[in-house]
Amino acid sequence: MTSDKTPAAGFAGTDIENQWSDICARLRGEVGDTAWQSWLKPMAVRGLEDGRVRFAVPTRFMRDWVLAHYAERIAKLWAAVNPAVGGVDLLVQSDRVAVKAPAGPAIKAVAAPGSATSDSATPGDWRDSLSAPLDPHNTFDAFVVGKPNEFANAASKRVAEATKAPPFNPLFLYGGVGLGKTHLMHAIAWHIRANQSKRNVLYMSAEKFMYRFIRALREQNTVDFKEQFRSVDVLMIDDVQFIAGKESTQEEFFHTFNALVDQGRQIVISADKSPSDLEGMEERLISRLNCGLVADIHATTYELRLGILESKAEQMGVPVPHKVLEFLAHRITANVRELEGALNRVVAQAQLVNREISLETTQDYLKDLLRANDRRVTIEDIQKRVSAHFNVRLADMFSERRSRSVARPRQIAMYLAKQLTQRSLPEIGRKFGGRDHTTVMHAVRKVDELRSQDQAFAEDVELLRRMLES
Ligand code: ADP
Ligand code: MG
Repeated sequence: MTSDKTPAAGFAGTDIENQWSDICARLRGEVGDTAWQSWLKPMAVRGLEDGRVRFAVPTRFMRDWVLAHYAERIAKLWAAVNPAVGGVDLLVQSDRVAVKAPAGPAIKAVAAPGSATSDSATPGDWRDSLSAPLDPHNTFDAFVVGKPNEFANAASKRVAEATKAPPFNPLFLYGGVGLGKTHLMHAIAWHIRANQSKRNVLYMSAEKFMYRFIRALREQNTVDFKEQFRSVDVLMIDDVQFIAGKESTQEEFFHTFNALVDQGRQIVISADKSPSDLEGMEERLISRLNCGLVADIHATTYELRLGILESKAEQMGVPVPHKVLEFLAHRITANVRELEGALNRVVAQAQLVNREISLETTQDYLKDLLRANDRRVTIEDIQKRVSAHFNVRLADMFSERRSRSVARPRQIAMYLAKQLTQRSLPEIGRKFGGRDHTTVMHAVRKVDELRSQDQAFAEDVELLRRMLES
């Protein structure tokens, strides 16, 4: 055993547990008894891996909450007592999860190290330690499909369901942060593990790939490293943009990639940009990545956001008024992760103080988040976009002209300003050539009325909204 193994061995067990109980006691003083009881006490420490302390928590909800509110603090406190700790990871582990997760080896993957779940199919298989854990919630069933992601979803399903040659190689999924790339990759892995348990699926982040590779170099183990990667049937590398500019890792990845493709093994890659837009990537790797199917996930639409919220609220089993869901779908537009986070916050906060969830409490709990989202669309953006769309002069947004051809677009712009920003009616009026707030109110009513009467009109307004939000 070389000293490099210490993260796995030396710090596991009691050391880490003792450190946690010290840190936990300290946090209790900082956050108070109630929060400590609700969030910190249920966390079970599982060990240290790759410089990150792993915890098991009973629900996904709890995981998200702890990640959002305490993880950073915990990591900081920990680094102060044990420099080997660079961060914390939370795994969801509960009876409920185990039951819901796909059968068989699936449960093994969610189990934290040290837990006693066994999998007779591949005992002690190296892949269990190599493949990153899969989130049991990230299945195809839990993935809400809409226009922005239907292509990526369909392509992922094709790959997951294929039993012979890969339908396309690689499948390259790309899109902005929080739009579902990792979810789809986990879904593919779950599906294959559940239906074709003989196939070896290896899922890991590009960052981890690099980490492993560097460790193999250091330990002069590159032959084993190559062996391990080249014996998988399905290799999934998440967030490949991470290895941009990292030349030797790219080189190794390129060879692994080629070796697997030549043997007809499936490769699935994700990134935040299309292959050609990835900077700091070698040409030959880019052209390889472009060879299969490139599927992008677009920014969410209102309908998709609402669908996702409905599905998440149902999963949480908490009654959330539909109005609140609609409100969140309108206002939290950045990505799905933020949307989920907002819903979690609203629910958690209401539960903590034991109040019903309403539009009012929602606005209150999410004040900061809503403000941040608002900054994204300004009244000026709206005026520009709307006047361009209806082919009227920008000046007509402020002018006195009342002819229908300019008054209607102006009303739509006011309506959108009300919907998409947090400006008050008087503020909006002022920005439209110093109009009165009753004029804005009238515009909002008028547009609402027209939307309900005229389908084409409603679509037009919706289109404008989407363009402004994306
Ligand atoms: P990415 O990897 O693209 O940054 P993730 O896959 O991690 O994004 O998605 C962020 C969060 O949003 C995850 O919790 C994921 O389950 C959820 N999510 C994203 N898209 C959808 C969807 N279409 N339906 C349900 N949940 C989704
Ligand atoms: Mg991801």
